[in-house]
Amino acid sequence: VALAPLDRRCTAALDDAVARHAEVAFEFLERLVRAPSTVGHEQAALEVFAAQVEGLGLNVRRLPFPAGPVADVSAGVAPRLLDPGARYQVLATTQGTGPLRVLLNGHIDVVPAETPDLWTTPPFVPDRRDGRMYGRGTGDMKGGFALGVLALAALADVAPDLFGRARLGFLAVVEEECTGNGALLAARDGVLADEVVLLEPTDLGLLLGGVGVLWVDLEVRGAPAHAESAHRVVNPVDLGMRLVDGVRAWAAGLAQQFPDPALTDVESPYNVNLGAVSSGAWPSSVPPTATFRLRVGHPRAWTPSEAERRVRELVAALAAADPDVVREPLVRTTGLRAAGYHLDDAHPLVQTLADAHQDAHGHRPRSFSMGSTTDARTYLDFAVPAVCFGAVAHDIHGVDESVELASIVDGARTLARYLLLRFAGDEGPGT
Ligand SMILES: [Zn+2]
Repeated sequence: VALAPLDRRCTAALDDAVARHAEVAFEFLERLVRAPSTVGHEQAALEVFAAQVEGLGLNVRRLPFPAGPVADVSAGVAPRLLDPGARYQVLATTQGTGPLRVLLNGHIDVVPAETPDLWTTPPFVPDRRDGRMYGRGTGDMKGGFALGVLALAALADVAPDLFGRARLGFLAVVEEECTGNGALLAARDGVLADEVVLLEPTDLGLLLGGVGVLWVDLEVRGAPAHAESAHRVVNPVDLGMRLVDGVRAWAAGLAQQFPDPALTDVESPYNVNLGAVSSGAWPSSVPPTATFRLRVGHPRAWTPSEAERRVRELVAALAAADPDVVREPLVRTTGLRAAGYHLDDAHPLVQTLADAHQDAHGHRPRSFSMGSTTDARTYLDFAVPAVCFGAVAHDIHGVDESVELASIVDGARTLARYLLLRFAGDEGPGT
C-alpha cells in the first residue's frame, strides 16, 4: 500500500497542527451543542457549522430542504412539523469546480432530550469534565463535525494546496435520526463524491454496515368505560402491550431465520424498540385508544416495502389470534424506512482509512457492523462507497450523552492522513 504522502516530517507537523487547533474545535463543538437541533429546529446549528467552515476558506451553499413527503422508495415518512418554515442543509466545498473526490458527511440533527431533570448538567449546555464533553449531540454526532473541522484546520496549515487539483465536500444534513431524507435529497441533487466518510461516533473503528430499520405506530382500540367496569372491558394499553410482545417475539427469531454473515458479531441485530406510548387522560376512565411507537430492526435481505408488508401481516395475525381485539389495530409508518446495508472490509476506502489509522496510531482499527442504521446506506444505494468513522461517544440517545475529547483529536489525526492519501497524489480512489 502506497503511504508515500505520509512521510514522517509531514505527519509530525500534521499532528502538531491537530494539537494546536484542538481547543478551537472543542469551542466549535460547544457552540453546536448550544444550538439545540432537534427535528425542525436545525437551522441555528447549521449556521454555526457554515460560519466555521467559511473560516477555513470553504465555499458554503445552503441547499433547500422542502417540507412534506418525498417520492422515493428509499425515503422515510416526513415528520409533521408545527412550523416547517424554510429549511435547508449546508454543503461546504473547497475551491474550484468539478466533481468531489471525497465527501465528509455529518448529520446536524439530534434526538430529543425529554428528561433534562435526569441530566447532571442541562443537555443543551455543553459541559467539560473528566476529559469529556457532555451534552445532547456531543457524541451523536456534533463531535464528528468537530473532528472533521479539526482535520481540515490542521491540513490548511501543513498542506495548504492539498485541494488544488480535486475538491473536497463537507455536507451537514438534517433528519438522519428520523427519515434519512436529508442525505437522500442531497444525493439526488448530485451531492456525491468518489467516496464518502460519515463522521458518526464509531469509537475510532470503521462501521461498515447496519440492519434495516422501519418505524411504525400501532394504534390500538379498546372499550372506553368508567373505571368501575374496567374488569369487564378491554384496556387498549394492556392489549397493545400483548401485541408489542408478539412483535418482539417474532423479531427475536429473525436472526436465526435470516442468517447474515455481515452481522455475526451483532448480539441482537433486530431489536424492536418501544420508543413512545400515548394513551388516556384520566385515572378513572378506561382509555379509548393507545398508540405504541415502534422501531423495528429487520434483515438486510428485505426492502423497506417488504418489511412493512411483513409487519402489517404480523400485526393482523396477532390481532386475529387475540380474543380481546374488537377492531384490527391501525399500523402507520411514521419515519425511517431504511434498508440494511454493508460495505466489504476489503474495499479500498476501508483499507485506506485503516492505513491512515495505522500510521497515526500504530494499529489497524476494528471494523464492524451494528443493529442500527446510518446515512451510509443512501450513498451505497447511489453506488458510492461510504464508511462511518468517528469519535468515542457514550450514552448516545440517552442521559448524560458525552464524547471523549481526546478521541476527537485521535480521529482527526486519522482523517487528516486519509485526506492526504486521497488528495496528495494524482491517483483517485479507483486506481
Ligand atoms: Zn448519528
